[in-house]
Amino acid sequence: MTITIFRNFVDNRQTTCPIDRNEIKSDDLKPASRLLNSFLNRLNIRCDFNEFGCNSIITLESLSAHVSQCNYNPEKALPCEKGCGILLTVKQKSGHNCVLEDILVTIDNQNERIANLEKILEKNNAFIHQRLEALEKKNDSFKQLEIKYKLLENKYERLASCVSQLTLNSSGLNTGILALEENQSLSTSNG
Ligand SMILES: [Zn+2]
Ligand SMILES: [Zn+2]
Repeated sequence: MTITIFRNFVDNRQTTCPIDRNEIKSDDLKPASRLLNSFLNRLNIRCDFNEFGCNSIITLESLSAHVSQCNYNPEKALPCEKGCGILLTVKQKSGHNCVLEDILVTIDNQNERIANLEKILEKNNAFIHQRLEALEKKNDSFKQLEIKYKLLENKYERLASCVSQLTLNSSGLNTGILALEENQSLSTSNG
């Protein structure tokens, strides 16, 4: 693996040996000794995606495994952070029109509308309560009037019976007066 990377490196640019400054060609390269390989493998290096924000320091040995899993790999698709479940690469993320975000905004708007409607409902309830209280007061005064009317009705009935009693008494008195007058006229004619 390491030799392949070096071969690509050497093929892509002109490289000279740091000791004798002779040009190095990929065919000159030979696999490193096991000792050197194990030394290189234990070297700590930065992740390939350090410039994209990955701060991981790993051994050369574990670099390829890390790179294939690294969340900062611009080609790696990760689930949308807004929670819609769509897998997106870094590039796709910037152009992603998240449906969930729209839904959340709609829910926010609906919640605001519900809160406003609840306020209106509360005001209406207070108004209805006031009207009911006023109606109850009116009902109370109507009941009092009814009681007064019943009392007056009773008084009128008692008065009526008194009047009829008086009428009966006065007719008896009239009969007595007539009888007295008759007796008086008889005694005058006899005398
Ligand atoms: Zn990384
Ligand atoms: Zn999304």
